[in-house]
Amino acid sequence: METCCWDVIILGAGPAGLALAARLASRKVLLLERQWSPAAGMRIGESLPGAARVLLQRLGLFEEFLDGDHLERGTSIAIWDSNAPVWRDSLRDPSGPGWVIDRRQFEQMLLNAATQRGAQIQYGCRDFQVSRGADDRWTLALDGDNTRHVAPVIVDASGRSASLARRLGLNHIRQDAQVCLHSFLMVPASDEDTTTRLVADEDGWWYSVRLANGHRVLAYHLDAKHPERIALQQPEALFNRACRYPLLADVLAQVQPAEIHCRPAGTALLDIANLDKAGPGFLAIGDAAITFDPISSQGLFHSLASAESAATAINAGCWHNPHAAQSFQQELLAVASHYLAKLRLTYQGPERFAEAPFWADRTMPLCRLPEA
Ligand SMILES: Cc1cc2nc3c(=O)[nH]c(=O)nc-3n(C[C@H](O)[C@H](O)[C@H](O)COP(=O)(O)OP(=O)(O)OC[C@H]3O[C@@H](n4cnc5c(N)ncnc54)[C@H](O)[C@@H]3O)c2cc1C
Repeated sequence: METCCWDVIILGAGPAGLALAARLASRKVLLLERQWSPAAGMRIGESLPGAARVLLQRLGLFEEFLDGDHLERGTSIAIWDSNAPVWRDSLRDPSGPGWVIDRRQFEQMLLNAATQRGAQIQYGCRDFQVSRGADDRWTLALDGDNTRHVAPVIVDASGRSASLARRLGLNHIRQDAQVCLHSFLMVPASDEDTTTRLVADEDGWWYSVRLANGHRVLAYHLDAKHPERIALQQPEALFNRACRYPLLADVLAQVQPAEIHCRPAGTALLDIANLDKAGPGFLAIGDAAITFDPISSQGLFHSLASAESAATAINAGCWHNPHAAQSFQQELLAVASHYLAKLRLTYQGPERFAEAPFWADRTMPLCRLPEA
């Protein structure tokens, strides 16, 4: 068996893994991706807060990002705490309005940066074996491959599956069995609406926003076990239900129903307090560490921010420098604890649905984070 030595091995080439690879330009980086090619087709997750500007600047990609087909985020209109719509613009946000991004183009930009800066990507990686040798380096062997990859640092960027962390014995807990039913609806050129529209109903919550590519996202978040979930996966059923709400019907008037996709969309957390138990030189970033509820619009920001923090930890020698590893872990713990508290407050908002199972379940404490 051949042995290949790397500085860093990253599992998963989503936004978090790609951003980290792009950030580690001077190092020998291997990215292992389960898919056979870069993601094609449309993918949900398009709202990027203005605070991401600094992270894109650190990646040296902000100018290129601004040249892309991303829209400035408009006002958000929410029917949430009460039945009266509340408008929120970015006037009071020092970071500015943020963007509704073209997700495929965004990931392609990160992929180009990672590869141009020297990262190697291997697609189509299925199962793997991972171990830590007597020389304190990690060894990762892919099924069906004759090469053994060795590095002092391995990073789990495999998204909500947290495949590597779980393989190393860390708990990864799905806190919430929420799913998102969504479709990408073709809109007429006359649809220039830039608002993000949010509506809470008894069984979940909706949003709709127009993308730069001539489509509009319509998304409904509800419990995976909701009795009508299967029926709502019919395009007309979801569309007709959305049209019950004038705030949504208003932007759906000239639009036809389209194919429905279903994705898990609830909070999931890695046992961050025990990150160090996996062994020195192990890090988890993006959704693999903290999977945010889409209501927060924080997933992409967190992917970039945790990749930045991981790069700092790696550059400080986290595999032999306990202080660097602890700083990374403490930062993740602080983010998770702040997020869980805020999330609960958000779901407490629609008091008129307090007795409905979807809302009652989410206003209980999701989990207690153990102290590191
Ligand atoms: C319905 C919904 C709406 C959302 N809306 C927003 C939004 O508006 N704004 C926002 O900021 N965020 C949003 N998000 C969240 C955002 O999409 C995620 O936070 C983001 O994609 C996380 O990036 P990641 O790189 O950590 O994980 P992912 O994007 O999941 O990438 C993980 C990569 O790892 C690969 N992988 C998995 N297992 C393995 C393995 N064993 N070996 C090798 N590779 C593997 C996968 O194929 C994938 O390419 C939304 C999420 C959902 C579900």
